[in-house]
Amino acid sequence: MRVLIVEDEPAIAEALVFALKTEGFEATHVTTATEAKSLLSSPFELMILDVGLPDKNGFDFLREIRSKNKIPVLMLTARSEEVDRIVGLELGADDYVVKPFSPREVTARVRAILRRSQQPSGDKQNAFEVDEERTTIRYFGQALALSRYEYSILLLLIKRPGWVFSREKIMDMVWQEPEESFDRAVDTHIKNIRAKLKEVRPDLDPLQTRRGMGYSLKEDL
Ligand code: CA
Repeated sequence: MRVLIVEDEPAIAEALVFALKTEGFEATHVTTATEAKSLLSSPFELMILDVGLPDKNGFDFLREIRSKNKIPVLMLTARSEEVDRIVGLELGADDYVVKPFSPREVTARVRAILRRSQQPSGDKQNAFEVDEERTTIRYFGQALALSRYEYSILLLLIKRPGWVFSREKIMDMVWQEPEESFDRAVDTHIKNIRAKLKEVRPDLDPLQTRRGMGYSLKEDL
């Protein structure tokens, strides 16, 4: 497995290279978007991309390459770039980690992304049909009456079946003003979504609670 690291801070890059190599990956490290671009024709399985690069914003770089290149991308963002993380995922990043992070956290995310990206695309979720323009979600053909937050949370989970989203991450990605809410609010919305799904299919419970970790959507419905 070959991983391309695009990061201009030497200490971070070295720690990542070391952690990845320790876990059996091959790691190539460059410090600019320009260098990264020149290497993208080589077969890398994943790219770790810093947002604050000397020659280009990582989001702009992602936008630029995304139309032609489907390489899985893990973004490295700073606290101050909080709002932009959502943009990153919309642009097609597969996940993000916030600095400062532990190299171990990054390698775990890398593994998770690779596991998902290597699954055959035939096992797509079809219990849910999403119409993003009308902001509606159908569950086994039946339209769900969801509040704005319920819709956004369920959409987030549907887009990445099997992924575990912590409460913090859900708030981060769904709430417009996260500081005004509390973790409990996520639990309440999840409870409501569950009840609405149960009305349609009392026999199924596609939302999984992962104790101490967060929530995920079952992969094989
Ligand atoms: Ca940087």
